[in-house]
Amino acid sequence: MTAVVTGGNRGMGLEICRQLLGRGYRVILTCRDQIKGEAAVDALGGGNDRLLFVPLDVTNEQSIKRLDVYVADRLREVHVLINNAGAAFDRGGLAELGQHSLLDAPLDDIRCSIEINTLGALRMCQIVVPYMRAQGYGRVVNVSSGMGQLADMGSGWPGYRLSKTAMNGVTRLLAAELGDGDIKVNSVCPGWVRTDMGGSAATRSVAEGVETTLWLATLPDNGPTGGFFRDRQSIDW
Ligand code: NAP
Repeated sequence: MTAVVTGGNRGMGLEICRQLLGRGYRVILTCRDQIKGEAAVDALGGGNDRLLFVPLDVTNEQSIKRLDVYVADRLREVHVLINNAGAAFDRGGLAELGQHSLLDAPLDDIRCSIEINTLGALRMCQIVVPYMRAQGYGRVVNVSSGMGQLADMGSGWPGYRLSKTAMNGVTRLLAAELGDGDIKVNSVCPGWVRTDMGGSAATRSVAEGVETTLWLATLPDNGPTGGFFRDRQSIDW
């Protein structure tokens, strides 16, 4: 089975690649920087026919088209898509502990967040889900965040929050279109994880952070679709 992972060069993306490889998947590690991508592949033991690197910036249409051609020419199958690439784009966010107000948030920052976290994931689905349909099998995992949860909405981080709320909308819409069939589409909140994004004070290790993502990526045929999960438990939108 073939898995495509976005943002695979570091953080949770790299660990997801490592664990999928360990479970016998052929892994297409994608990231936007060629040198970082090659270093990540080396860190996982080197490239071979089970671990391939493809450059991909999920906000760049040409880059996405090149991946589309690569899938069509070389893979012709994708069973698992992990939309992991993400960024917290709120100016002053980290420095000011995310207390940037929605009322004075630069709209360009919000657009950038939506480009990466929402539209990037959507474009990947548009490329990959047709293969899943043809195969009669697919698992799409959108790596979202509790910060996009409407039921528990906090303040600050407007671009990041809105883009993850919208990513969850992509999960719901796509799951509704695909129905209760062979393709499962779910969102995951990994918790607060010690990566470059989460910072060193975060409560979870990277291995803990990817646990539910890996579970959703490998769901059995009777597994859920159209849900939002943390620690394998359904959570409110
Ligand atoms: P990270 O270590 O900062 O890694 C983010 C990854 O996304 C990097 O590989 C980065 O690539 C990639 N990326 C950013 N913009 C991209 C673009 N335009 N095209 C392709 N790749 C791009 O973060 P992480 O903590 O592992 O985050 C992984 C996912 O978990 C994200 O979607 C994040 O929102 C979500 N999440 C994280 C936490 C947490 O506490 N860490 C909590 C909730 C949700 P570069 O190296 O090129 O920048």
